[in-house]
Amino acid sequence: MQNSTLSDIKGIIETKNNILIVSHYSPDGDAIGSSLALSDFLDSIGKKSFVYNRDQIPNYLDFLDYKNFYNTTEAFPQDFDLLILLDLNAFERTGEDMESYINSNFVNDKKSIVVIDHHENPTINNANLHIDTDAASTGILVYRLIKKFNKKINSKIATSLLTTIITDTSSFKNSNSNIESFMVSAELMEIGAELDLINSRIFANEEIKKLQLKTKIFSTLKFEQEIRTAICFSTTMFYEETNTTKDHSTGIANSLISYSNVEIGIFIREIEQNKWKTSLRTNNYCDLASFANKFGGGGHKNAAGFTFNGELELLIKKIISELKHG
Ligand code: 5GP
Ligand code: MN
Repeated sequence: MQNSTLSDIKGIIETKNNILIVSHYSPDGDAIGSSLALSDFLDSIGKKSFVYNRDQIPNYLDFLDYKNFYNTTEAFPQDFDLLILLDLNAFERTGEDMESYINSNFVNDKKSIVVIDHHENPTINNANLHIDTDAASTGILVYRLIKKFNKKINSKIATSLLTTIITDTSSFKNSNSNIESFMVSAELMEIGAELDLINSRIFANEEIKKLQLKTKIFSTLKFEQEIRTAICFSTTMFYEETNTTKDHSTGIANSLISYSNVEIGIFIREIEQNKWKTSLRTNNYCDLASFANKFGGGGHKNAAGFTFNGELELLIKKIISELKHG
């Protein structure tokens, strides 16, 4: 499908009034930051906008102000004439409820859908897609869209947008950190984005129970020298024993690739019995989006994921064998 330009998308937005913004479940700083920034911007140009995510805003992101935020499709106050999907490119990434809502309220009714994203391998048809896999965050694309309207960005929107860059680049440590991400961040700082607040809430706000959880997770660590891959996992019991949630294990896969000789970091989390969420990270070793695709998932070259149904031992065997011989 042909990429729509941001000018096309600006044109679409101008003809619509009630806009629903949806990002992927288990949201990160990019999903939430880009949604809230776009929502605030749309409100500032006289549109009514509503933000949906299947899940709550994680605690470490609740410093971002929000209103009109929904976790259920049943509470929507009205119908919408435009759906904007952010930081995802497959309907199922919105969650089951929203996926069926989209099918009955937008796809079947042929209402406009816009997708703004930076992931590889989109699977959505019948929508206006603007995908740029070189963008460090979806927030960067929202920034570019706002610029198309020739509108000033306020300090609140700047903080949301800077959050998207800081989280998706891991503070400019990931290989998606590019010149634009620095330039846009500098401009956002000039406008008044609160970097101190972002850093203190996202990076210096750890609870000791997180360390207790990590201790358990790292006790499962395996290093496969031949494929330079470090793998570790968590089970439901680990979370129960440390009174933690899955939010306490974000960043594990990423932390593995900061060790020398580790080119691929893999963290596997038990979602429920015999259902495992796999997070994959690399600096520049291989294309993990294609790798995750083989397991029915997706993502970026450097950060990807998938869900596996079956035994953990089998999953680990399959991953290692696919990396060695695939
Ligand atoms: P994470 O490991 O942080 O959950 O995900 C890393 C990246 O891979 C994210 O950009 C996310 O969008 C993508 N990703 C993770 N899990 C899945 C999945 O099950 N399906 C698809 N298509 N992408 C995923
Ligand atoms: Mn993102």
